Amino acid sequence: MITVETFNTHREASSALNDRTRFLAGGTLLMRDVNYAVPGIEHIVRSLEPLRTIRSEGDSVFIGAAATMLDVINARETAFLAPVSRAVGGPAIRNMATVGGNLFAPSPFGDFTTALLALDATIHFADGRQEEIETFLAQRDSGRRIVTAISVAPPLSGSFLFSKISRTKPKGPAILSIAVRLPSGGQEARIAFGAMGPTPLRAKAAEAALSRTRIDEQGIAPVIAVATEGLAPADDALASQWYRRQVAPVHLKRLLLGGQR
Ligand SMILES: Cc1cc2nc3c(=O)[nH]c(=O)nc-3n(C[C@H](O)[C@H](O)[C@H](O)COP(=O)(O)OP(=O)(O)OC[C@H]3O[C@@H](n4cnc5c(N)ncnc54)[C@H](O)[C@@H]3O)c2cc1C
Repeated sequence: MITVETFNTHREASSALNDRTRFLAGGTLLMRDVNYAVPGIEHIVRSLEPLRTIRSEGDSVFIGAAATMLDVINARETAFLAPVSRAVGGPAIRNMATVGGNLFAPSPFGDFTTALLALDATIHFADGRQEEIETFLAQRDSGRRIVTAISVAPPLSGSFLFSKISRTKPKGPAILSIAVRLPSGGQEARIAFGAMGPTPLRAKAAEAALSRTRIDEQGIAPVIAVATEGLAPADDALASQWYRRQVAPVHLKRLLLGGQR
């Protein structure tokens, strides 16, 4: 039997976490696991704290962990992330799926997190601590800490590109997703891939090549040549790891030369 406990705040809920406990957000993945009786879930905690606010503060935008994909689409402050949110599931999923839950979504999910990785987002936890997203992803564990917010510096106009490749459009899961922040105005180049590893991963060799080139067919050739270095795609029902490695450079090239899709 699974027990459910409701707390007033995320901080209180986090005190009840252990390795058999899960925090319930939108439930689009967790309730599926519960329905399929996935082992290891004995206790579910939830919080009544309304953490859906999206606001600008200084140079950053703060997105509450409970903000849904639809909230992101509707908020002026997150207009740069609206195309990414629109790529997550269909309307019913976007209405439930939270930004916090996406951080823990296993591959091939995690399109929104791929974008946050390319934007060097910071993850804020219920215990008041914070962590860079790359560090967080390297050791993520959904039974350990509760995320309360994400903060991210909006990219300069025209410098953020995102593409999701799926077999069924518009709402199929990703064969891969790509988010790029072009180097400009002091912001460094970032290239992040989703569904090309157990979590979204940065293509660091390609980032280094992108930071010292111009964006045209000849200029980006060195970037494309090392596009999949350091990535670790898996075989799944959607595509083999071989296929993912073959098509990732092609789609990165299209994204860089064709702009946002
Ligand atoms: C039909 C379908 C289509 C989908 N399509 C896509 C897609 O196209 N792209 C995509 O990226 N995803 C997709 N998903 C996966 C999922 O809907 C999203 O990743 C969503 O953002 C997960 O958020 P949630 O609030 O529903 O998480 P939940 O299901 O509530 O939780 C998922 C996991 O995250 C943990 N968690 C949630 N919030 C927090 C928090 N604040 N702090 C700590 N741990 C937390 C939970 O404990 C749980 O382990 C799809 C799912 C379905 C069922």
